[in-house]
Amino acid sequence: MSLRYECPNCRRPIIRNGSWFKAVSTFHCDACKAKLRLGYSAKLALFERHGKAA
Ligand SMILES: [Zn+2]
Repeated sequence: MSLRYECPNCRRPIIRNGSWFKAVSTFHCDACKAKLRLGYSAKLALFERHGKAA
């Protein structure tokens, strides 16, 4: 299942599968190369928005 996370820096959608989002805590935006931090609460919000429990 693919999830979509919008880069807070450049607004570009980052689409990866759910297990990828679960595994990472920091990653780089493909478009602007910003270092993004995905904390526990951000992950919860992301999964909730896609209708899945984290
Ligand atoms: Zn970006």
